[in-house]
Amino acid sequence: MDQHKIDMGETAEECLNLEAELEELRETFNSGKTRDASWRRSQLKAILNLLKENEDDLFLALKQDLGKHRCEAYRDEIGTVTKSVHYALDSLKKWMSGKKVNLPIIAFPATAQLIPEPLGLVYIISSWNFPFGLSLEPLIGAIAAGNVVVIKPSELAPACSAMLASVINKYLDNKAIKVFQGGVSVSQQLLQQKWDKIFFTGSAQVGKIVMAAAANHLTPVTLELGGKCPAVVDSISGSWDRECTFKRILGGKFAVCAGQICIGVDYILVEKKYLSTLVSRLQVWVKKMFGDNPKESMSRIINKQHFTRLKSLLSDPLVRASIRYGGSFDEDNLFIEPTILVDPPLNSAIMTEEIFGPLLPIITLEKIEDSVNFINSRPKPLVIYAFTNNEKLKKMLISGTSSGGITFNDTLVQHAADTIPFGGVGQSGFGRYHGKFSFDTFTHEKAILRRGFLTDFWFRFPPWTNKKLQLFRDAYKYDYIGIGLTVLGLKKY
Ligand code: NAD
Repeated sequence: MDQHKIDMGETAEECLNLEAELEELRETFNSGKTRDASWRRSQLKAILNLLKENEDDLFLALKQDLGKHRCEAYRDEIGTVTKSVHYALDSLKKWMSGKKVNLPIIAFPATAQLIPEPLGLVYIISSWNFPFGLSLEPLIGAIAAGNVVVIKPSELAPACSAMLASVINKYLDNKAIKVFQGGVSVSQQLLQQKWDKIFFTGSAQVGKIVMAAAANHLTPVTLELGGKCPAVVDSISGSWDRECTFKRILGGKFAVCAGQICIGVDYILVEKKYLSTLVSRLQVWVKKMFGDNPKESMSRIINKQHFTRLKSLLSDPLVRASIRYGGSFDEDNLFIEPTILVDPPLNSAIMTEEIFGPLLPIITLEKIEDSVNFINSRPKPLVIYAFTNNEKLKKMLISGTSSGGITFNDTLVQHAADTIPFGGVGQSGFGRYHGKFSFDTFTHEKAILRRGFLTDFWFRFPPWTNKKLQLFRDAYKYDYIGIGLTVLGLKKY
């Protein structure tokens, strides 16, 4: 089979091949080879080589599928993945070493340890908007943890999907890591298999299908989903802060995959009195960033279907009337101009569905504190952005809302931080990854307790007496004096 490419309507022979491929992965895992630190290192280093030696081809595939500029492609995919591999290589020894833990007195004398063990056969299903990053980033964690892996990249980015299959085939150990290209039917065929972990990036709708399939085999899942991420814009004090805010909001919207990103700014919340400044400065910054021909530096929409979906978000006359900037569509090039809207109806699709494109609604509020209720009246976002120097507002947002995370005074940077987990809550998903969190996601922490045969607390075993009951009470409270007094019969029980 060409690069493990399988189609539905597959013959019995192709099904058999799939089973055989998975069997080979299981055999590799069972051989113990992937548990070896040197194997893990070699594969992580191979990812570095794969990125370095094929950079131009990777850029080209991203250009073909998404019109991504090389700078954007490096910043968001090749660069971030390279950084993550280095971090994993530097940390691997520590991650693999496990940790000692304390034990209750009742187990005395004993020692305990948590030893990380790989889960086994891992299935990574990824999305099209960051076709390399969303496949390789979880792969780093899965390899670091010592697993064997199947990746199913999205069929909607076919050039990237083919490129990924080709370089993984060439650089990595194919007895342990395989790419299966294909669409929904392939994904579903794979979902019927028994996995030890499924890591899914995509929509909530498909997330439910993944969970249902995983339930059949009691397979644990991580769901990296999307939703509507708000940006709360407070009355930023100085003009410097204000300009930073505008620039960073646009950086987290139009300047990243044309807004086709799960952690992009979906809409802005601002007090009415700041609206005109916000709109006029955002326009200035759009011009500064993209010039007169944004097509040259902005990504395009992935395909006709998504283009039509985005266009239809503006079909409601009330939504169209709310456009303050942009709004033009170039169907031949699948390009949508950066578009700013003010107060579209809250029950319109643009305010109820994830936008995933370069349309940016601004919603005005009487008081910025109302943003807390606004956010809470909607599904939990993957991230909340808030631009403010007001510590009270920061506290209100931290303790009064729920989201995967909150980033103050910037957008997207949290994604590049290996030391904080990336993941959602509620509708935006569950489970987390990046850095050590990726390693943990693909690891079972096995509890090891070691005792000798020398001594025991005699009160642990029958025949039961009130004195033994009292000793249990003392022991679970770590009341050493109490234990002494009870043993000596000096305590009432
Ligand atoms: P999607 O759910 O349509 O597809 C994701 C993957 O699932 C693809 O590989 C696809 O082939 C497969 N798939 C699709 N339908 C399937 C089905 N019925 N059964 C089994 N597999 C199926 O999502 P998408 O269009 O690729 O991505 C857009 C969504 O993903 C948005 O909601 C976005 O917010 C979210 N997303 C989240 C993150 C994150 O890190 N949290 C990153 C990127 C995208």
